[in-house]
Amino acid sequence: MKIKKICIVGGGTAGWMTAAGLSNKFSDLGVSIELVESDKIGTVGVGEATLPHIRYFNNSLGIDEKEFMLSTRATFKLGIEFCDWGKLGDKYLHPFGDYGMPIHNIEYHHFWLRLLQKGHKSRLCDHSFPVLAAESGKFQHPHGDINKIGSNYGYAYQFDSGLYAKFLRKYSEARKVKRTEGRVIEIYQDRESGNINSILLEDGTKIEADIFIDCSGFRGLLIEQKLKAGYEDWSNWLPCNRAVAVQCEQEGASLPFTRATARKAGWQWRIPLQHRTGNGYVYWDKYISDDEATHKLLSTLEGNPITEPKQLYFKTGKRKKLWKKNVVAIGLSGGFMEPLESTSIHLIQEGITALIELFPDKSFHQSDIEEYNRRMDLNFDRVRDFLLLHYVATQRDDSEMWNFFRNMTLPSSLEDKLQAWLNRGYLTKYEHGVFHPPSWLAVMAGQNLFPNSYDPRVNNFDYDTIKTKLDNLRNENRKAVNRTPDHASYLKNFGASLVN
Ligand SMILES: Cc1cc2nc3c(=O)[nH]c(=O)nc-3n(C[C@H](O)[C@H](O)[C@H](O)COP(=O)(O)OP(=O)(O)OC[C@H]3O[C@@H](n4cnc5c(N)ncnc54)[C@H](O)[C@@H]3O)c2cc1C
Repeated sequence: MKIKKICIVGGGTAGWMTAAGLSNKFSDLGVSIELVESDKIGTVGVGEATLPHIRYFNNSLGIDEKEFMLSTRATFKLGIEFCDWGKLGDKYLHPFGDYGMPIHNIEYHHFWLRLLQKGHKSRLCDHSFPVLAAESGKFQHPHGDINKIGSNYGYAYQFDSGLYAKFLRKYSEARKVKRTEGRVIEIYQDRESGNINSILLEDGTKIEADIFIDCSGFRGLLIEQKLKAGYEDWSNWLPCNRAVAVQCEQEGASLPFTRATARKAGWQWRIPLQHRTGNGYVYWDKYISDDEATHKLLSTLEGNPITEPKQLYFKTGKRKKLWKKNVVAIGLSGGFMEPLESTSIHLIQEGITALIELFPDKSFHQSDIEEYNRRMDLNFDRVRDFLLLHYVATQRDDSEMWNFFRNMTLPSSLEDKLQAWLNRGYLTKYEHGVFHPPSWLAVMAGQNLFPNSYDPRVNNFDYDTIKTKLDNLRNENRKAVNRTPDHASYLKNFGASLVN
């Protein structure tokens, strides 16, 4: 009953990440893997900003960080800077790290809230080393000693997604993955079980397999076009449905963070790589035309464009079942939410991890399939709520889109989290999945959503003692940032930069 053959359909980021992940675990166990992709169709060609979890993925494959960064022209990423989200003119950075450490088991931010309520002026950001480092264009790997300043943060990468796919292709082919070029034109199902048993390519080649991984992008060739898994449409909550993307020359040194600037009908990204910058405008077509969005994007680039603007269309949501019969959808074929928090590649990684843990035999136990779908649903739901938070925690009333969000009815899961925060500064924790309390704190405080109260246990502490402790951390952070090298020279000294 052992699975002997896996077929991956699609060779974008999802396809090659899946090939790398599965070949690392199963090639030596006698499972053969074939990946089919079509150069004529191509890939979506975007997806350059990541979350820190990708380091664990690369590490699990035994990938050397320098080699990976050189091959993909990657920069380090300490977080995302959000401009104009709470109000026009606002700016804050969502870092991959904590704000201070708990004091007597009470979360640090409650102490900060008490200072604020007493009229003390201090930005939450000043209590975070990665925010201050990012604002100064600086970077270094986190300190190994957790008692030191500059240890309690993570980092991710900004990279060229096409180069990452190439890099993983080389890795996978070295682990016996067979790549086949060709367009899938037919998909055959077993009459009894309904499982897919083979696919037919344009040149007449037929590929049989025990399990198929659908990485065919938005079209969902197997999971939707053949198996009709169905789509859960979330555009009532996240209605942006288009994007226009363009690459431009880089002006100045590459910065260790992604930027997301809110616009009247969506938002604009800026992702600095070593040799160029990726840009795009994600928008809701109800409130802006394609031409207007393209014009806005091109008129706000920091360097000369080096590609033609590329238009992309999408509907936010996810497949009702990401695993159906013997097909698992990973990547855009499984669903999509706008890249506001760089979550799509992370969801690919979650899909691969869950598939490896629940890897089936030919009997395809329904309980395993349901567990996979349950886990992935949870991941998607959590990302959706966190993305929506950015839109609804706003005071903007300068366009119809912002008015729509200010007046919307929220999913109850998000409403509950917001109420817990607003009532007493409580940050609900997830046991699994993204995002953790400091991320919620960053966005809520960054977008001027402050609670009525804080943990009353904080009142057991003398105010001046609290103030001195928090001021000390701010000063220590500043001093540590002064000692930190700038990002571009750190990249060079680390040996990961191709840019002189
Ligand atoms: C505007 C935008 C911005 C984004 N930004 C980010 C970001 O910053 N961070 C992030 O994490 N994610 C981002 N994403 C998502 C990210 O781009 C994708 O998750 C990632 O690229 C994976 O795509 P994919 O491999 O699923 O699909 P694709 O790249 O579309 O690949 C599909 C593959 O299937 C093949 N294929 C399709 N049909 C056939 C056929 N009939 N026969 C043979 N082969 C076929 C294609 O040739 C291709 O190889 C963004 C997405 C969009 C739309």
